[in-house]
Amino acid sequence: MEIDAAREVRTTCPYCGVGCGVLAKVAADGQVSVRGDPDHPANFGRLCSKGSALAETIDLDGRLLHPEIDGRRVRWDEALDRVASTFSQTIAEHGPDSVAFYVSGQLLTEDYYVANKLMKGFVGSANIDTNSRLCMASSVAGHRRAFGSDTVPGTYEDLELADLIVLVGSNLAWCHPVLYQRIAAAREKRPEMKIVLVDPRRTMTADIADMHLAIAPDGDVALFTGLLAYLGQHNALDRAYITEHTTGFDRALFAASNLDLAGVAEATGLSEDELGRFYSLFARTEKTVTVYSQGVNQSSSGTDKVNAIINCHLATGRIGKPGAGPFSVTGQPNAMGGREVGGMANMLAAHMEIENPAHRARVRRFWNAPSMAEQPGLKAVDMFKAVGDGRIKALWIMATNPVDSMPDADAVEAAIKACPFVVVSDVLASTDTVRHAHVRLPATAWGEKDGTVTNSERRISRQRAFLPAPGEARPDWWIVAEVARLMGFGEWFAHATPAEIFAEHAALSAYENDGARDFDIGAYAGIDAEEYDALAPFQWPEKDGQAARSPSTRFFANGNFYTPDGRARFIPIRPVAETRTDEKFPLILNTGRVRDHWHTMTRTGKSPRLSQHIAEPFVEIHPADAQHFGIGDADIVRISSPRGEVLVRALVTSRQRQGSLFAPMHWTDQFAAKGRLDALTASLTDPVSGQPALKHVAVRIEKFAAKAFGFAVMRQRPAPVAATYWAVAKCRGGWRVELAFADDDIDWAGFAAALFGASPDMLAYHDRDAGQHRIAAFDGERLAGALFVAPGPVAVSRGWAAEQLEETHAGQRERFRIVAGRAGAERPDAGATVCSCFSVGANQIAAAVAAGCTTVASIGETLKAGTNCGSCRAEIRAIIEARRVQAAE
Ligand code: SF4
Repeated sequence: MEIDAAREVRTTCPYCGVGCGVLAKVAADGQVSVRGDPDHPANFGRLCSKGSALAETIDLDGRLLHPEIDGRRVRWDEALDRVASTFSQTIAEHGPDSVAFYVSGQLLTEDYYVANKLMKGFVGSANIDTNSRLCMASSVAGHRRAFGSDTVPGTYEDLELADLIVLVGSNLAWCHPVLYQRIAAAREKRPEMKIVLVDPRRTMTADIADMHLAIAPDGDVALFTGLLAYLGQHNALDRAYITEHTTGFDRALFAASNLDLAGVAEATGLSEDELGRFYSLFARTEKTVTVYSQGVNQSSSGTDKVNAIINCHLATGRIGKPGAGPFSVTGQPNAMGGREVGGMANMLAAHMEIENPAHRARVRRFWNAPSMAEQPGLKAVDMFKAVGDGRIKALWIMATNPVDSMPDADAVEAAIKACPFVVVSDVLASTDTVRHAHVRLPATAWGEKDGTVTNSERRISRQRAFLPAPGEARPDWWIVAEVARLMGFGEWFAHATPAEIFAEHAALSAYENDGARDFDIGAYAGIDAEEYDALAPFQWPEKDGQAARSPSTRFFANGNFYTPDGRARFIPIRPVAETRTDEKFPLILNTGRVRDHWHTMTRTGKSPRLSQHIAEPFVEIHPADAQHFGIGDADIVRISSPRGEVLVRALVTSRQRQGSLFAPMHWTDQFAAKGRLDALTASLTDPVSGQPALKHVAVRIEKFAAKAFGFAVMRQRPAPVAATYWAVAKCRGGWRVELAFADDDIDWAGFAAALFGASPDMLAYHDRDAGQHRIAAFDGERLAGALFVAPGPVAVSRGWAAEQLEETHAGQRERFRIVAGRAGAERPDAGATVCSCFSVGANQIAAAVAAGCTTVASIGETLKAGTNCGSCRAEIRAIIEARRVQAAE
């Protein structure tokens, strides 16, 4: 591919479901820069910290560049032949359900379409499921129960038009930062806008909330059934909407009335006063949007939570209107595109239903498919159980890392290890999943591939290549189509470009569609390569050329649901009390994300900027629980469930609800000794959607009795680290590692040499009685590495130590300063990084506050912090507030 250095390429961010537009530019020297696309209607030029750092994540370090079979480099034709022949033979011997694809919301729509077509129309099985099952399957199921279709009714603009936004189980400030910024900006213009946060944790999103309801884990069903009852009791219903456009209201209201306010208070852990204030605010605010995300979806009652929320919006007629509606936001960049192509085991292409014989017949006709799947396939959790018990004998994993992200992850890893034939298509040569593949297929990455993605508001945008494909990497759609050809289906997989696949996908959406199906982008069925290349973001059902903000971009304000009678269905819901803790596992662990990392860190872990915000796995614990379990701040702790254990750093904070813990899901065996959080979670699923309850697992916590702690920086990434606890993170000059040891009888010089290489030029300080050891190794004037060991958490400024890797150390004075473990007086410690864009630390912000800065804007003027992507503004405000409280005491 030719690179046009003068041109900025319009593409889309590959992280979350906000789907921000990005302008990427390759300079003459090959340097890539990115900025937000001011014309993209999802972000209007904004990017969060992750989007802003995309250019730091596109190097070729660790890339899988050639096909491999059993670790041996092979030619593409040999690899493809092995995949096709083994799948064909397995199907011939054991039937189509003996094979499976496990795909990903990171695939582009065109990749997804081809994989789904091969499995459902040509292999004849529906054993294709996706990591989106872990993300938003309960929203899909809730939509289909209520609306008869998987339709998101609203648009992002509704978040700016609403008078009340209820955020349920959503840390928007960190997980969908640009949406958070859009809301924050709208609120600045209209301070009367109210925001309610429903979350067991006081997350950074609470920064803009007027009310934080610290709900008990899984208390959401009770909260919203209680709200429906309240709306009924307080004459706050839209009777006309209910009568004209819905069915089942009386049964839903009756079910809700089983719980009185005291019952709701008990089930939610909220006071009757808090409930009353929230219910009253909701009842009297016409323009209300309820936004929900993984805290709702990742639950064994996720579908009921979704329908409990939708019930309240249907009952008030607040749906599909400017500033009003239920709104599910997806975690992944293309979860919605996957839904559109039907890339889940219980769906069919183009929002058709696999259980519906007429839909199956229609898709069969369109594809001219020889062996159409006749029934739903195995959903993710059941799929890996089938891999484990031998029913699935050939598995192809594309663009995802189930050894880390599936619940009961150790069992999933054991199943993959035992599977007779595993193919993994990935961009990296080494992930916790790739290590078990018999065949490894190098896929193109963001920046190298072309296709489309759909964001949470149904907006389809192009991802465009601006870099050449490295080595022998190929797009996922090409790999699947080649395997299909070798399996004998070449005629139906003869697409030469993603544009041709998109045109077929668009044509299928319109095929025999008389308006009975919501998803119809048939206007693009005749798209050619040139038009596809120039395709601007569009939001279905808007047809090409319609105004981007026309009311027709919303659904259901006037009914017209996709049920047989055209009416929405109220779902009667009864909260079920679920107590999963016991004496052995007395705490509930809530899992989630951090601001600057994403999924299993295969991309964000490459960025020094993103890795400096939070550099190791941690658990948040309430001070009372910490005291009860004998845990201090910064201790290493072991968290265990009946399935596994992790070792993480303790963070004692009153943000955390008592009785619950919070830990992020990002760390893998590539970045930490024992940080794979989903080794703890159970394969318990929602009975309707099959989505696992990743947010809620009973655990115990205990202090890990470390005899010694350590911290090290080094230029080269360390090989396996011989410490009981370690966590490695990229920093500007190299790598940093946090360490803890079960034993302190260690040859520290030998340990340091193993960590950053033996050097004749080493400086060491040992105080064996105090358990203090500091060792620095030099390579000419550069620091090769430095190790600091202490009997407790090491009190060395991480930022300062990492900076030493980039500086020269010619004189003894500078070298001794490293071994002393401190900056000179002229270099005060910046503290933990808050603003990743400008590398501004907490200590610098606190100092600026002490010097008179009292607003986020004034901190921005003084330090620049918070003035680029804005993802850290909530944290800056928290520091200002903490100083204000401190000063008042
Ligand atoms: S909010 Fe951030 S991560 Fe999400 S799409 Fe936008 S820039 Fe990417």
